[in-house]
Amino acid sequence: MALHKNQIISLSISGITSEGNGIGRCDGMAVFVPYTVPGDQLMAKVVKVNKSYAYAIVDRFTRPSNLRVEPDCPVFGKCGGCSLRQLSYQAELELKQDWVRQDLRRIGKCEPSMLPIIPSPNADRYRNKALIPVAMGENGKAVSGFYAPRSHRVLPCADCLLQPVEFAAITAAVLDYINSCFIKPYDEISHKGLVRHIFLRKAEETGQVMVVLVVTDFALPHTGLLVEKVRAACPNVSGVLLNRNDAVTNVIMGKETKLLWGSGVISDVLCGVKLDISPLSFYQVNRRGAQLLYAEAARMAGLTGKELLLDLYCGAGTIGLSMAGKVRELIGVEIIPQAVENAKTNAAANGVTNARFLCADAGQAAAKLAEEGLKPDVVLVDPPRKGCSLDTIEAICAMAPQRVVMVSCNSATAARDVELFAQRGYKATQARAVDMFPRTANVEAVILLERNNRK
Ligand code: SAH
Repeated sequence: MALHKNQIISLSISGITSEGNGIGRCDGMAVFVPYTVPGDQLMAKVVKVNKSYAYAIVDRFTRPSNLRVEPDCPVFGKCGGCSLRQLSYQAELELKQDWVRQDLRRIGKCEPSMLPIIPSPNADRYRNKALIPVAMGENGKAVSGFYAPRSHRVLPCADCLLQPVEFAAITAAVLDYINSCFIKPYDEISHKGLVRHIFLRKAEETGQVMVVLVVTDFALPHTGLLVEKVRAACPNVSGVLLNRNDAVTNVIMGKETKLLWGSGVISDVLCGVKLDISPLSFYQVNRRGAQLLYAEAARMAGLTGKELLLDLYCGAGTIGLSMAGKVRELIGVEIIPQAVENAKTNAAANGVTNARFLCADAGQAAAKLAEEGLKPDVVLVDPPRKGCSLDTIEAICAMAPQRVVMVSCNSATAARDVELFAQRGYKATQARAVDMFPRTANVEAVILLERNNRK
């Protein structure tokens, strides 16, 4: 008999999907249950039935798994952030390694040698960035917190265990400013109101914190008071900025930024490279994890000092600059102008003279460089979640580099791209998962592709 909504079923959980849901089987159907772990036996209530799978929620556990740990956050299960806080960290690492292996096998149709997953140096407070939505609370005062899972309802939350401790005090100071000046939080339904998000970013090495309010209009009143309050809450605040976003969109940041006080960049050190980072530049959220990731990417790149290295999707230049001392020449390509500016400044500040950075679409730039006859020895790609575009992959292959090192925060799209490379003569020989995002259903992967010279 087919499952139906509200039915209570008995389930054994056998795995966790890369969305973070436990998976069990009932009557031949896959049933996904959030916040469950392998080995859990439970009664689950069916909430949604599709053709070949269903969703259910925990009704009660009949025998909890021994991989379980007590979740240590008061909003765990209510906020959309962590989905693995009920699982031991060791089990989380094994799970994530398996996600990457399975994606490469199923989607990428390859079996590279899998090196053991690199754990995050910190499983908590590892993030250096927060994007905190602001909304009107029930008592007519602004609240901030996190979106509840799969919704845009703001769940109030004063602190988050993934974020630096000082973010809580800064957020409270911003809310205090908003409420004491009667400033209206943005309302997504009516599209009225001024303050949408609080964006915080910390440079771990220097301690500097950047505070950005995402607003619908730069004409925010009493900004002097805002600056005063956040600086009093955290003496390490080094810049206060506004970012304007008046579009009806889920995209958080707008394109224009205005400095209210202090510096428009924060300075950090990553893999020994001094970096200036603007609000709109991408910066890895887990700095210590990123250092391990970049070191692994460098190892796979096999640099000897003679190479021409092409760093596509280079952001503020981070990965390439960490390898500039080990190559003959570095070319970085990035689409966001502010990030390219950061990359150039960062190269100069570190005395790097063998690098140049282009502001362009990775595919277009790669095609142009290929046309010019550029022959990079190693190409590094670190694309956003959607992966590389086909024209980028084709242009890279046209340049025939010996090695391609792929860094990716989405192993499914990375695996898809690996297959596209394979069709063009590149074999995935090594892969390694790096856990940059403990407690959440995300993992980073780095994959080495080597050119098949017989082809
Ligand atoms: N390698 C960097 C950034 C990786 S994030 C680091 O590790 O810090 C991916 C980067 O790709 C972002 O900076 C984003 O702005 C950039 N990007 C997105 N689409 C792009 C495209 N079509 N062409 C070039 N860069 C792009």
